[in-house]
Amino acid sequence: NKSLKEHDPVLYDLIQQEKNRQATSLELIASENFTSAAVMECLGSVLTNKYAEGLPGARYYGGNEVVDQVENLCRDRALQAYRLDPEKWGVNVQPYSGSPANFAVYTALLRPHDRIMGLDLPSGGHLTHGFYTYNKAEGTRKAVSATSIYFESLPYRVHPDTGLIDYDQMEVNAALFKPAMIISGGSAYPREWDYARIRAIADANGSLMMVDMAHISGLVAAQEAANPFEYADVVTTTTHKSLRGPRAGLIFFRKDDRNFEGRINQAVFPALQGGPHEHQIAGVATQLKEVMTPEFKEYAIQVKKNAQAIGKALMAKGYKMATGGTVNHLVLWDLRPQGLTGSKMEKLCDVLNITLNKNAVVGDRSALTPGGVRIGAPALTSRGFKEADFEQVADFLDRALKIGLRVQAASGPKLVDFAKAVADDAEVKALKAEVN
Ligand code: PLP
Repeated sequence: NKSLKEHDPVLYDLIQQEKNRQATSLELIASENFTSAAVMECLGSVLTNKYAEGLPGARYYGGNEVVDQVENLCRDRALQAYRLDPEKWGVNVQPYSGSPANFAVYTALLRPHDRIMGLDLPSGGHLTHGFYTYNKAEGTRKAVSATSIYFESLPYRVHPDTGLIDYDQMEVNAALFKPAMIISGGSAYPREWDYARIRAIADANGSLMMVDMAHISGLVAAQEAANPFEYADVVTTTTHKSLRGPRAGLIFFRKDDRNFEGRINQAVFPALQGGPHEHQIAGVATQLKEVMTPEFKEYAIQVKKNAQAIGKALMAKGYKMATGGTVNHLVLWDLRPQGLTGSKMEKLCDVLNITLNKNAVVGDRSALTPGGVRIGAPALTSRGFKEADFEQVADFLDRALKIGLRVQAASGPKLVDFAKAVADDAEVKALKAEVN
């Protein structure tokens, strides 16, 4: 049994390069984090060798005595971490990731072509909540994710003036559209969700209420965000964002006479997945143990403070944050007043070893050339950054943007020309040295 270094030096070297990139760059992607050594140990464990189709105690393969205990531990801890009564709530911990978790819920609880409403992608929603691209000239639309291929989606949006979810319009549209399911949760929404209002709209129209808390699940566990379990029928999440676990997905469901338990378990396996990834499930279990500690509560509080600090620092420099700031782990920086696209800012930041992503802001004409960038605090908070450190990052970003505007004035509007020009720019090199 050779080590990776001996067996495959090429791949070993690539992993070292990525390790180095992660250690030396400023990681601001709102959906990323740094997992613990304990989680990594689970991921690299012998549990990856085991087939365990089915559920603990009812598997299709032998040899699951240990793996059953691993999966049960994860299920118990998942319910405990969100303070759920096992009589009233159950959880399936097998989804490979967030997208399969969401699709399993739709498979379980909807019929093909049923109607759904989720937050529109350019408003900060996720692809798996149903999203189309529109060709106005031709009067056509294209389904981008399987959710909009198999279900009829009428997304709700944020209000163009405030950037806040337009619940009044959601209410009007839901009354007309009568969705089978209303989905809450987003990937780039810096504000709290009004779950009570969404529950009322769902009840008025006979809709199920699903909350995808992927981005904020660490904050919810730490009671630093509103609790979706008070209102939702089903809650899904990824485990690798603010929760800081390995990549995976969870589905929580209410236990009542609607038999969500049977329907969701059957949708995950055998409808959509095969053998569960027990090494991943073990990683989730050990992370959930950490999530229940006072240290993780401190972490979640610090994530929010840090997101607010960078948002405030950028606004103090005259920049515009969507919704005027944040109450969670991310800010959405609207770059349109300055006139640099999100794509160019992302490209420039990449050269500077600052990792963030372009993001649509409300009113953008095209999701392909979005007008903003999304900045998240979870990863750097895991590295011990505090408010003053995030203010320093804001300072780097301010200087980067000014360089970007100068370079763009000379290089013209094309992204490729811009990218070439920033790579050679002396001021970029000097700033990069400071970032490092
Ligand atoms: N749901 C939300 C709200 C997300 O932001 C994401 C990922 O960014 C997902 C689901 C999908 O998760 P995954 O990338 O693990 O499939």
